[in-house]
Amino acid sequence: MAKAPAHAFASTLKTFKTASGKSGKYWSLKELAKQYPTVDRLPVSIRIVLESVLRNCDGQKVSAKHVEELAHWAPNAERTDEIPFVVTRVVLQDFTGVPLLADLAAMRSVAAKLGKSPKTIEPLVPVDLVVDHSVMVDYYGTPKALDLNMKLEFQRNNERYQFMKWGMQAFDTFRVVPPGFGIVHQVNLEYFARGVYKSSSDNADVPTYYPDSLVGTDSHTTMINGVGVVGWGVGGIEAEAAMLGQPVYMLTPDVVGFELTGKLREGVTATDLVLFVTSILRAEKVVGKFVEFFGPGAASIAVPDRATIGNMAPEYGATMGFFPVDEMTVAYFEGTGRTKEEVELFESYYKAQGLFGMPAPGDIDYTKIVKLDLGTVSPSLAGPKRPQDRIDLGHLSTKFSELFSKPNDANGFNQPPERLKLRYPLTTSGQGDDEEAAPPPPGAPREVVEMVANRSTKAAAHVNATAPAAPKADGVTIGNGDVLIAAITSCTNTSNPSVMLAAGLLAKKAVEAGLTVKPHVKTSLAPGSRIVTEYLEKAGLLPYLEKLGFYLAGYGCTTCIGNAGDLTPEINDAIVKNDLVGAAVLSGNRNFEARIHPNLKANFLASPPLVVAFAIAGNVMVDLMTEPVGKGKNGKNIYLGDIWPTPKEIDDNLRFAMNAKSFRDNYDKVKSDPGKFWSSIEGTAGQVYDWPTSTYIAEPPFFSDFKMAPHASDAGFKGARVMALFGDSITTDHISPAGSIKESSPAGIWLKAHGVPKADFNSYGSRRGNHDVMMRGTFANVRIKNLMIPPDVNGTQEEGGVTLFQPGNQKMFIYDAAMKYMEQGVPTVVFGGEEYGTGSSRDWAAKGTQLLGIKAVVARSFERIHRANLVGMGVLPLQFRGADSWQTLALKGDEKIDVVIGGQLKPQMDVKLVVHRADGSHQEVTVRLRIDTPIEVDYYKHGGILPFVLRQLLAA
Ligand code: SF4
Repeated sequence: MAKAPAHAFASTLKTFKTASGKSGKYWSLKELAKQYPTVDRLPVSIRIVLESVLRNCDGQKVSAKHVEELAHWAPNAERTDEIPFVVTRVVLQDFTGVPLLADLAAMRSVAAKLGKSPKTIEPLVPVDLVVDHSVMVDYYGTPKALDLNMKLEFQRNNERYQFMKWGMQAFDTFRVVPPGFGIVHQVNLEYFARGVYKSSSDNADVPTYYPDSLVGTDSHTTMINGVGVVGWGVGGIEAEAAMLGQPVYMLTPDVVGFELTGKLREGVTATDLVLFVTSILRAEKVVGKFVEFFGPGAASIAVPDRATIGNMAPEYGATMGFFPVDEMTVAYFEGTGRTKEEVELFESYYKAQGLFGMPAPGDIDYTKIVKLDLGTVSPSLAGPKRPQDRIDLGHLSTKFSELFSKPNDANGFNQPPERLKLRYPLTTSGQGDDEEAAPPPPGAPREVVEMVANRSTKAAAHVNATAPAAPKADGVTIGNGDVLIAAITSCTNTSNPSVMLAAGLLAKKAVEAGLTVKPHVKTSLAPGSRIVTEYLEKAGLLPYLEKLGFYLAGYGCTTCIGNAGDLTPEINDAIVKNDLVGAAVLSGNRNFEARIHPNLKANFLASPPLVVAFAIAGNVMVDLMTEPVGKGKNGKNIYLGDIWPTPKEIDDNLRFAMNAKSFRDNYDKVKSDPGKFWSSIEGTAGQVYDWPTSTYIAEPPFFSDFKMAPHASDAGFKGARVMALFGDSITTDHISPAGSIKESSPAGIWLKAHGVPKADFNSYGSRRGNHDVMMRGTFANVRIKNLMIPPDVNGTQEEGGVTLFQPGNQKMFIYDAAMKYMEQGVPTVVFGGEEYGTGSSRDWAAKGTQLLGIKAVVARSFERIHRANLVGMGVLPLQFRGADSWQTLALKGDEKIDVVIGGQLKPQMDVKLVVHRADGSHQEVTVRLRIDTPIEVDYYKHGGILPFVLRQLLAA
């Protein structure tokens, strides 16, 4: 047998000892620094990536040159080197995890068809999937909400959950945390992250240890940066490659150092801080960069606050928002139930590597340094349409009033100012009384139907009781700025005990003062882990939240992902008839149009206590800094200052939140007591999936004509038609929506044709295992504007996924046009503006684009993950140079486009775009190929990352 080549840096393998005398080996960065002295001054995050490159240096996927290049990282060098980063593990949520599992199952089918062992396709690193994206807030304001919502969830998602159970038995390293446990990033912080990992191939007496690192199929994977773990969100396609042993490839990043000094003032929350950080970093343009926090302020803030800041890295545009490991991290691991041995190994390892402790100013060479004095942070919200638009709490009322009449392109709502304060009565439609409440949600189980039928005025203690009953309509009016959804939601904040306890304490004081929530508000509490309800209960605060309608609605993403459930028909009617600008206030991280609810135009991100306060105030035009939150007992005005918790009150209750035993007991149940609903799901067995007929799970077509040799690549094409002309900031949610499916949309029509009634459509997100639904849903967001369609006489631009089929300007759905073009063998292209593909990482945004036959997307700039996903699916991302845009080219959409690639495909090469106009003239413009790295060239030539990896695995 041939001897494995010696490791190029074998001398850097050293031994460390723990405090109790246990020994471990590690690839020493200090030792490497003897050859490359600048290593000691590299950003901590870069050093952790360097350790992975060093450890995995095998002369094949990772070469000695890669180690050298990264060891020579310079703060302001041109970024041309590609890093192969082998991650320790992969995390998934269910919306993205199911299609990924479907791709793996499809690869196994290919392996079986080619006579290979299906086991050739097996994750090589641990993969954890948390089912968190599927629960919806159908029921709220009742003690039964959790149970009822979970029943509906299981009913709607039975086929998906059966498929997951098949995956659990088919793949050795694939774990699932069932619904009802929490949100992926909070579970990742509290449970998955174990500090350091031991080499699995290492049976030596002294094992080799290495740092945790990961990629996740959710952009907010960066939350884990709060505990010093290098990790970020990638598309499902990249995650699949990572789990099948491929390095994650990226250009060496710039690293922006963010120096924190000072202390947060009393009354200021971690949510306020993250909204400050987001608006500062957004202005700094940190897209594609690492951000690393340091300095005395960073050392002083607790790990949950660090995690909240890490969480919103996608909102400020960075690849990561990283906090180095220090004593706070160790304390967090101890308090959340990691074993003594794990914590000891963790601390000793980081100390041995010289990576322990928060860096002080001057310790590290960063690309740039940004500073914030924590003492300048003030209570804030962000919105109404973008997370980076921070508003001081005291300015919210005036800001909303201003935006009400500003044009859409100035972030406004384009409404006549005289309508701002008008109010409209809710019409009862015979549903205002509890006795005559609205029917149960579609597909509700029998118990729910009975419960709604039995509902009585007496039983309904709160107007919100048992959704979807309408509020008592008598005398209830709604108007612009009314808070219609108030949601304590999202891992961003629910993982942070200080803000959750603050919400509970505020609720307690509010109830004691006699305050109540306005009848038009849909209230919900959806934590990212059961631990939250446990400590709120122990602190005696949960009953007060419940009194205000914040009953537990689910453990999952809910409102944060747009699973807010519907508003009552009366409220929906009033909004639509009167063109109202209704508001949501939520403790989430995103607020793009139509994300929270299709009828709510103004969505504000805020801390959990402010969510409760605004549910009481009922309208975002109440200035909580000067006006009362509401009237308490005896008609007394109660101000925010009267009910805002003090730091001492929060601190006194924090002891309930850090109980190692509670964490251990809770997560032991993932195996021992996964819940009655989950236990009753029956999955099929076997190594290869048999693809039973399902409108949820279907064999994806990506390998339908798979051959071991790739097709000859021909990157250029001619005579392409324009499918769409889009403006700036087209999000992945515009491209591939996650929310509800319209009956009249191509996906809705297909589902009905396959016997699925409207009531059972579920969401696009839950149907990502079925390409027939997803390709029909591509570009089907109800708010997307294809600027090829001329505006109407009032200048209003039509919304929705339509295009003009050419020749002839025939208006039709983008899906229908795509099928016609594909039938005729005509390639198509999409044009976009700045930040094309911004928003959540969503591989279907690229998969759907490919399945519609779109060969290239030409934009002014691309969001990082979406660009990589396009390449990963074999679609060319092309970027305009300088001030060029489709507008400067005066494109109308009836042109034909050639993409001319001169010579061999090379990363970031110039490409010629030839525009042939309808009048016979033509124009050329040079654009940049945004295939960024050599490995991406290979992916593209193979038709995408998946065929590339599959060929490698099957050839091995
Ligand atoms: S709660 Fe929101 S941010 Fe967190 S995983 Fe769910 S959708 Fe993503």
